[in-house]
Amino acid sequence: MTAPRVRFAPSPTGYLHVGGARTALFNWLYARRTGGVFVLRIEDTDKERSTDAHTQVILDGLSWLGITWDEGPYFQGACADRHRTDAEWLLAAGHAYKDFLTSDELDAERAKAKALGAPFRYERAKCDLPAAERARREAAGLPYTVRFAMPQEEIAWDDAVHGRISWQGSDLDDFIILRSDGSAIYNMAVVSDDIAMRITHVIRGDDHISNTPKQIALYQALGHEPPVFAHVPMILGTDGKKLSKRRAAAAVGDYQDLGILPAAMRNFLALLGWSPGGNEEIIPQTEMIARFSLEHIQKKAAVFDPIKLEWMNGQYLSLLPVVELLDPVQRQLEMLGVSTGRDLAPLIDAVKARSRTVTHIAEQIAVRLDATRIVRDAKAEQLIAKLGDRFAVNLKLAHESLAACDAVNWHAAFLEGILKQLAESFGAKLGDVMQPIRIALTGGTVSEPVPELLTAVGRDESLTRIAGAIPG
Ligand code: GLU
Repeated sequence: MTAPRVRFAPSPTGYLHVGGARTALFNWLYARRTGGVFVLRIEDTDKERSTDAHTQVILDGLSWLGITWDEGPYFQGACADRHRTDAEWLLAAGHAYKDFLTSDELDAERAKAKALGAPFRYERAKCDLPAAERARREAAGLPYTVRFAMPQEEIAWDDAVHGRISWQGSDLDDFIILRSDGSAIYNMAVVSDDIAMRITHVIRGDDHISNTPKQIALYQALGHEPPVFAHVPMILGTDGKKLSKRRAAAAVGDYQDLGILPAAMRNFLALLGWSPGGNEEIIPQTEMIARFSLEHIQKKAAVFDPIKLEWMNGQYLSLLPVVELLDPVQRQLEMLGVSTGRDLAPLIDAVKARSRTVTHIAEQIAVRLDATRIVRDAKAEQLIAKLGDRFAVNLKLAHESLAACDAVNWHAAFLEGILKQLAESFGAKLGDVMQPIRIALTGGTVSEPVPELLTAVGRDESLTRIAGAIPG
């Protein structure tokens, strides 16, 4: 058996939608699982809406996700001659015919169907012109479209996800394959390309199911075996509606900006509609490839839960060596307008275990580097109210003890000893000493252990922040 050939065929008419990225991922996983070939084809035939910038966004998004293609990108627009040749072959072989109806005449046919309360379907027997009129228009060189003569028989396939799907040819119309300007329409172009690119498996969104019988009919008329079709489920938001840019981030680039790691995004996307069979959620890439199969893709729509994505990202973050976070955190800090100029590794190390995204890490580091970014949160205000006078007293005492510590001894183990001793000598609870310092340094009540926080912020800056936080 020859190795499978699959393709991802996005239209560059917008950003890379998470649904598209998931389709690309499934194709890529299938190719990697089977030793097949993953082809990238940019379907840029909609000249008005396709742009080079969109193509670039798609290529960048795939690269960011680590989805590498083996062939392409091919551009559908560059294959227009072959699409036309294939359509003309169908015409010559009698599988298609010229339609000389003008758009007004076509509208009149539609109106007729509407008046009868029937859905409009172009059927040659009902819509075609009388033979003499056709001949007259042809002889006069009037424009025409080319329509495919839909076979009046059952068209069925064994979908790798949905099982047997069958349509009656009589429910499908004689669809246009060539416009009057000689350009091929979508179904013709896709089939012509998939044949030329020897695609064996078409893995795509189930919004394409209604195109599939038309495409299978084209394959048969062109004398080619149709590929295996696998229609993957839609992705819905947690509100049960289609993901849209307005309600949630729907573009892959948005998640990159939000500080999601590509490995986490890949893992998350893979589980939107596929499951390895067990309950595992964190599946490393090599395992994902080893276990991927079309049989384990579900039929029902998948739900995109951003909270789960953040959780998953947190899992990946905690496993990632700090050195791999240096560049992404640096980039996020630049986006936040924070100048760094010091080794970020210890800062990242201190906060990463409690973080869910790279952005979250960068935001915490920004506060550690720049006191103007401290914002007191509600929990901090509550605690200050609860501690009453002890807040000021404990901060003052802490300031005194810490000020006695010189820069050489300013490291977590030593600082911990100082603060413990301080709490003991006054019979104070350790937390009542630590929390005011945490509030002084970050504005909040949650952080890495306070001795590490003091090290991250540095001696002089910590003392300034503590002094500045003492009320009165
Ligand atoms: N270009 C089509 C789209 O963006 C995909 C075509 C296909 O996968 O067959 O939806």
